[in-house]
Amino acid sequence: MPDPANCFCLWAEVDLDALARNVRQLKAFLGSAKLLSVVKANAYGHGAVPVAAAALAAGADCLGVSSVVEGVQLRRGGVDGAIVILGHTNPWDAASIVEHRLTPSVTTKQLALALACVAAPQGRDLPVHVKVDTGLNRYGLIPEDVPAFVGFLQGLPGLIVEGVYSHFATADETDKAYAHRQLEAFVAVCRLLPDGICRHIANSAAVFDMPEAHLDMARPGIGIYGLYPSTTVGRRLKLTPVLSLKALLARVFAVAAGAAVSYGRTWVAPRPSVLALVPCGYADGLPRSLSNRGEMLVGGRRAPIVGRVCMDQCVIDVTDVAGVAPGDEAVIIGRQGDDEITADEVAEWAETIHYEILCGLAARVPRLYRQNSQWMHNSTLLD
Ligand SMILES: *Cc1c(COP(=O)(O)O)cnc(C)c1O
Repeated sequence: MPDPANCFCLWAEVDLDALARNVRQLKAFLGSAKLLSVVKANAYGHGAVPVAAAALAAGADCLGVSSVVEGVQLRRGGVDGAIVILGHTNPWDAASIVEHRLTPSVTTKQLALALACVAAPQGRDLPVHVKVDTGLNRYGLIPEDVPAFVGFLQGLPGLIVEGVYSHFATADETDKAYAHRQLEAFVAVCRLLPDGICRHIANSAAVFDMPEAHLDMARPGIGIYGLYPSTTVGRRLKLTPVLSLKALLARVFAVAAGAAVSYGRTWVAPRPSVLALVPCGYADGLPRSLSNRGEMLVGGRRAPIVGRVCMDQCVIDVTDVAGVAPGDEAVIIGRQGDDEITADEVAEWAETIHYEILCGLAARVPRLYRQNSQWMHNSTLLD
């Protein structure tokens, strides 16, 4: 594949070597606990199938998605590892789950019965995980209901209770008191269950900051993409961000002092200025809240976004960058020269979290995959 800078106007580079290094480091850090690699939401925007395959190849024990359709997408893409569905499933998706060998979370008798009705006649033993709500107050059974429900599942033909799990509300905060209460509640309910059920509760934040929460398996998401969950979580590994977002300048033009830029004329040139058009807008995942706030790297320097971010394009001020020409590369997320703009920094400008920036990368942005230090393949809207 030729250099991406000759192929596209706007593209995301996904470094699968960095991903593999992150997974291997997390795996080593976890020791004997298994690693479930969370690849929901199109692998946090990175591309579900290539990321899932690379994570398994690097030693992840299984994968986590949010829904049946995300699991089916992986199977259609040829991914063969165990896939745990971490979200709610409707009973009418039971046949699809069994057909695609997905591992659902089960919290209702309706779903359990529907799964048993499909799996048992086929002579299958479908592994399922039971989600416990220990204080996030979102999805899952209250701890008091878990032992009886697990007993009910074990009485059904065709199902095997493989795992039991919960999820933290505040593991990424400095004060871990609430997280420890959740962990205690979870461990307490696990003690009432038969031996041999895989217990898991740790997200990335707990992987790094709460080794006592690793239990039998951990479920890092953001960490495998090379980012820490929050500014306060301990930087215990040398993670590398996996995704960069780049564009080629489509136009470079001079304006006089007093010229106003983009919709609403919210930025007025304070001096004669050199501006550059970037073919990236909010429909690509560049938050509109970066209007007159964000920055990009051009020629190794920071160029501010001026005026409103539009649907498909935005304008940056390159007056202070020497010799900028159309076709030069603008880095929206990633490194250029000695500087780096991280997804965290973009999220700060947008007053959100880096998770949302990554997941918000639109399908129309081509993803270019690098593996074994080579450009391997790309995925575009036309695939
Ligand atoms: C998304 C998710 C994770 C991963 O969280 P990170 O903060 O990205 O590590 C783990 N477990 C569950 C249930 C999730 O939904």
